[in-house]
Amino acid sequence: MTDWDKIAIEKIKSAPQPPEDYIRLSGPCERDSIVNGDGLRAVVWTQGCPNHCKGCQNPETWDFEAGTLAKISDVLDILKTYEGQAGLTFCGGEPFAQPKACKEIADYVRKNLGWNVWSFTGFTYEQIQAAGGDALEFLKSLDAIIDGPFILSQKDLSLRFRGSKNQRLLHLEPGTAKIKSIE
Ligand code: SF4
Repeated sequence: MTDWDKIAIEKIKSAPQPPEDYIRLSGPCERDSIVNGDGLRAVVWTQGCPNHCKGCQNPETWDFEAGTLAKISDVLDILKTYEGQAGLTFCGGEPFAQPKACKEIADYVRKNLGWNVWSFTGFTYEQIQAAGGDALEFLKSLDAIIDGPFILSQKDLSLRFRGSKNQRLLHLEPGTAKIKSIE
């Protein structure tokens, strides 16, 4: 394990959490997105990211005190009105910095709306596995992650849903988080 891995795992474990039953959002929920995963997708934009990648397109989402605290039940009420979506994608900010809140939303839309669930993360699959706890439980709620930090020197906008060559699109088995395939 590298020093970078150790620092990332500590960031996952120490991220400030929203109050119980709340999630911190950086913007309103979206629908019909075609750029954040396969098919038409709803998007939940989380607020707060400890990764601070050079060249990040959304630095305004880094601050854990900014954005809006939203009741998870209110977010679900909005998502329920979105018809014709293939799934939901969590974008950031860093969704794995609020894993408990994100998992609650992920589990609800899978069970009640029949959606698949993807998430972007600046952490790697291996770092999330090593962190365990709520982050690993959220990982188990997902069908796919786009993992790893954005690295400006490896920028490549030809990749599907990814910004830099180090990032991977990992298709996962919901319930176990086993890797089914890697793009
Ligand atoms: S992980 Fe994403 S939101 Fe966070 S700094 Fe990196 S690119 Fe920006």
